[in-house]
Amino acid sequence: MDVKYNYLPEEFADTEEIFEEWKELISTTDFTLGHYVEEFEQIFASQIGSKHCISTNCGTDALILSMKAIGLGCGDEVITVANTFYATVGAIVACGATPVLVDSDERFQISVTEIEKAITKKTKAIVPVHWGGGSPEMLKIMRIAEEYRLAVIEDACMGIGALVNGRSPGTFGIVNAFSMHPLKSLNVMGDGGMVTTDNDDLAEFMKKYRNHGMVDRDHIEFWGVNMRLQPLQAIVAKHRLRRLEETLKRRNANASTLDSFLSQLFPLVSIPERLENCIETFALYMGLFDRRDELLLYLQDSGIEAKVHYPIPLHKQKAAKENCIVSQPLVNVENQANKLITLPVHQYLNQTHMEHIVDKVKTFYGQAL
Ligand SMILES: *Cc1c(COP(=O)(O)O)cnc(C)c1O
Repeated sequence: MDVKYNYLPEEFADTEEIFEEWKELISTTDFTLGHYVEEFEQIFASQIGSKHCISTNCGTDALILSMKAIGLGCGDEVITVANTFYATVGAIVACGATPVLVDSDERFQISVTEIEKAITKKTKAIVPVHWGGGSPEMLKIMRIAEEYRLAVIEDACMGIGALVNGRSPGTFGIVNAFSMHPLKSLNVMGDGGMVTTDNDDLAEFMKKYRNHGMVDRDHIEFWGVNMRLQPLQAIVAKHRLRRLEETLKRRNANASTLDSFLSQLFPLVSIPERLENCIETFALYMGLFDRRDELLLYLQDSGIEAKVHYPIPLHKQKAAKENCIVSQPLVNVENQANKLITLPVHQYLNQTHMEHIVDKVKTFYGQAL
């Protein structure tokens, strides 16, 4: 039995509805922002529970736009976690600010205590990442931010559809970023992203900044850039949003099957604790496994497309030698990079696939199912 990691062929097998709406769009030639983009932004904002949604070309742009909006720049320190996707840190550097990389906790999320230790006079913002589609302890992070008067920008790129204490990721920070990359919980046929905020002034700024700082065709208020979402992708996003709940239900069912079997293999296998009142997107289903490299090969040879997100932590990348501050030893991040395996749990897999994965893991460790 093959257990594939990539689900895009199934995800985009049925595109009739989308093509029909594309034809309407093409007949209107409304190719720059316009009706379809606004329609999606309104739907997304209301689903997330945020006042404004400003769509962008991708999640990386959404992060940069958020950071520009609160004025992050040269000399500002921004605290984030060392186990995230490159774009979180890349966006901070793109704004001219300095990333400060801190350790993760046992759940692969930014460590709240390490955030507090890393605060200096230059700290301006915290960027908690909803890594893998799980969530950091947002309420505690908001309390720290309030105490030290720091802005919070959530990197909720993997968190669309998740819940933290009953609230969506992207509703805690002052301005927050999402991605619709094909491998996120809400995906388009290419790139897409959005920013959410409740702040009217920031929303106004971001709408203009993503569109050259334009007030109208003949006037610009300030220098901006082009970060616009394509209307073709806005249509894809609107249709995919209708499936999100079902997608997450299936992923959560798969994840909980793995959780219940794999947690019996402790301490060979260590599965992160799942918090109450939280729903994860399982963009990544991660666990720590003894003899990781051997097991990874064994699973791959058995047709299970297991992966590692990521084998080289950010602070060990060549790029991090410039621009980054690493304020303490990143014990968890390094341990996780050495022992982590990401297993496929996507919405086109079922219980049988999950039991097959468990079976192989048990065989590897020499235990009968
Ligand atoms: C995917 C991702 C991004 C970047 O999003 P793109 O749409 O690919 O630009 C940023 N941060 C995290 C945590 C992500 O998972």
